[in-house]
Amino acid sequence: MLQVTEHGPVTRLHMARTAFGRALYTVSAYWVDGLLIDTGCPGTAREMLAWCRNRPIRQVVNTHHHEDHAGGNALLQQALGLPIAAPPDAVPILAHFPRLQFYRRLVWGQPRNVTVEPLGNAVETDHYRFEVIPTPGHSPDHVCFFEPRQGWLFSGDLFIHERVRYLRADEDIGATLQSLREVLKRAPRTLFCAHAGMVEDATEAIRRKIAHLEKLAREAHTLRQRGLPVEEISCRLLGPEDRMTRITGGHFSKTNLIRALLRT
Ligand SMILES: [Zn+2]
Repeated sequence: MLQVTEHGPVTRLHMARTAFGRALYTVSAYWVDGLLIDTGCPGTAREMLAWCRNRPIRQVVNTHHHEDHAGGNALLQQALGLPIAAPPDAVPILAHFPRLQFYRRLVWGQPRNVTVEPLGNAVETDHYRFEVIPTPGHSPDHVCFFEPRQGWLFSGDLFIHERVRYLRADEDIGATLQSLREVLKRAPRTLFCAHAGMVEDATEAIRRKIAHLEKLAREAHTLRQRGLPVEEISCRLLGPEDRMTRITGGHFSKTNLIRALLRT
């Protein structure tokens, strides 16, 4: 599935791998002024290629190496010969992509290895100039693309939701908080998130997200000081683990979020 929505000069490509007619999980890439930001997952790469064939796409960038953001790289490069750039730390991972857990292969598909160029400090298009901001946390290689004159922040997986309830086991929430504070300094007006879509009043949304995580961390520390185990704290603050945790074999869980916040 690939749905297209226009937000002025920015086009959102909303993709999902479907099974039995239902979308499993969705992700968005964006196209602006000849620049494609992220390429979706391997499972939707053919739809992405079909859409890109009729468009003036001059360059492709990735926000980070995850399979739902860089999974279309190999096909786009092979079929259209497009230049692709990714964060420097993502380049060796994309060249030898580690084998994914079963649920990730099912939902997204295993990416093919691909050779891409490392991103510099900025990406230029005909009308815009995007600052490349390192924003580690969700993954160590993660970057955002910020266009200062428009106030656009293409945020990959930095934002996702104001009130996240799950965390991947390998995420560093302390680094995510630092990265959120870093992008906040630019006072972005519009956020283009890979999962939440377009978010107006970006600065306020990021402020609320930081405040929510800080509050949750304070509450977790208070319960920890009373001697509660991490699982119990997680259950009290976020409710019991559910389908998300079961499907991902614990790779995404509420307990991961609380455990990570207790390290901040
Ligand atoms: Zn990701």
